[in-house]
Amino acid sequence: MRRDEEGGEARFIADRMLGRLARYLRILGYDVAYPAPCSDALLVMQARREKRVLLTRDREIIEGAGSYSGYPPVVEMRSQSVLQQIEQLVGEGWIDRARNPRCSLCNRALKEMPHWEARHLTPPFTHATQVSFLYCGPCNLILWEGSHWDLFRRRLGRLLASSR
Ligand SMILES: [Zn+2]
Repeated sequence: MRRDEEGGEARFIADRMLGRLARYLRILGYDVAYPAPCSDALLVMQARREKRVLLTRDREIIEGAGSYSGYPPVVEMRSQSVLQQIEQLVGEGWIDRARNPRCSLCNRALKEMPHWEARHLTPPFTHATQVSFLYCGPCNLILWEGSHWDLFRRRLGRLLASSR
């Protein structure tokens, strides 16, 4: 897997056209910034400042590569299909397998929630049968084995495995 300049795991920033990709990558556990609408120059500056790989479908950003000093690494997403975009990132070595999931809404790493605390946030049967819960407090998002998010995450994980 590719590394960033300091040998860490690559982190990403997605342009406005890639909202679904940003959410899917977060579910897979990758750190993806998805800033509010802003100019290309600001997007590039944030990528550079935070040492993120810029994911984009915007020709102007790609062609502007020479005009900003210290341009961040840029990956041009070739397909409009989010699943093909993920396959491309696997094929080019940017991502490999699923990590600990992050919140699809805000990008924070999900935290373990104590079982008793999840009682108020999950259906009774779920609470009685599940042993662990992951959550994002600020977004009120909760994930457990077999939940909608968990099953979706597994499907994406299989896609990663089959794309390698
Ligand atoms: Zn969140």
